[in-house]
Amino acid sequence: MTLLTPLQELRSEAARQGMLVAVACALVAFLLIAWNERRKVIATRLAAREALQEANNELERKIAERTADLRASNERLKAQIRERRLAEDTLRRAQDELVQAGKLAAIGQMSTSIAHELNQPLAALRTLSGNTIRFIERGALDTASTNLKTINELVDRMGRITASLRAFARRGDDKGQASLRKAVDAALQVLNGRLENFDLTLHEHFEDVALRIDQTRLEQILVNLVGNALDAMQAQPLPELWLEGEIADGRYRLYVRDNGHGIGPEARKHLFEPFFTTKPGEHGLGLGLTLSASLAAAAGGSLSAEHPSSGGTAFILSLPLLDTPAPPEAEPI
Ligand code: ADP
Repeated sequence: MTLLTPLQELRSEAARQGMLVAVACALVAFLLIAWNERRKVIATRLAAREALQEANNELERKIAERTADLRASNERLKAQIRERRLAEDTLRRAQDELVQAGKLAAIGQMSTSIAHELNQPLAALRTLSGNTIRFIERGALDTASTNLKTINELVDRMGRITASLRAFARRGDDKGQASLRKAVDAALQVLNGRLENFDLTLHEHFEDVALRIDQTRLEQILVNLVGNALDAMQAQPLPELWLEGEIADGRYRLYVRDNGHGIGPEARKHLFEPFFTTKPGEHGLGLGLTLSASLAAAAGGSLSAEHPSSGGTAFILSLPLLDTPAPPEAEPI
């Protein structure tokens, strides 16, 4: 027996269920796609974060490297500064020693003229004092008193000579101030023994300015320059020395010019080198110009030479004037 039932209902049921399954499948597929996309997004974000972290680490490493480099170069710089300071100190000490040695050598060289300088008044003192005793014994008190005054003046003069020599030998320092007039007078006084044998015409055209240099050091420079000029004019029948000054750029320029034998082109190259001398035997030490230039430089000035076409030599001593502000001290690091 065959039971025939209509399939309509079954087919529509099957179609409904088929639809439901299809929708469910589509939903699952959609969810899978969405999950996959999200996974990708998360993976990308993670990769980006890792890349960022990596870049950050790299940056930090580089910064650390640079900082270490900077620190190292800073240390090197500090060490170099320390070394330079040490070298400067050593140089300054050596320079001071050289200055002192040069001064003592100059005094040694001058000893003959010093002895001459002091012997003359000593001989005069001996005669004068002997005479004075006799005048007093005879009751000629007026003449005795005149003699005593002369004795007084002679003793004063000897005192001045030894004082200027003591000042020359004393150690000076880079600071301090000097009167140009006093320095020139003291230098001429030191060289007096030599000047006596010279028929020198001295032209002085400078002002009595206050200079930023130790008085003794300025005197020493002038003794060197004038002493050299006298040496150069030994064979000159009409020796002339010009001391001329001018103000330029807050400095005072003193020209010490002579009409001596001048300086040849070869010697000009070595003038300021230590121990360069053209003077024969014991006469030249070759330290005068070196020391003078270093004394001038230590005071913030300079010493240079010019060779006038008319002959002779001119040394230009340039020194800061006292009323110009001192150069700033180096900042401590
Ligand atoms: P020193 O006087 O002991 O030789 P310096 O350093 O003072 O040493 O001088 C070096 C040289 O410079 C001298 O030997 C001389 O040849 C030359 N000189 C310096 N001043 C003059 C001058 N005014 N005229 C000619 N030559 C000079």
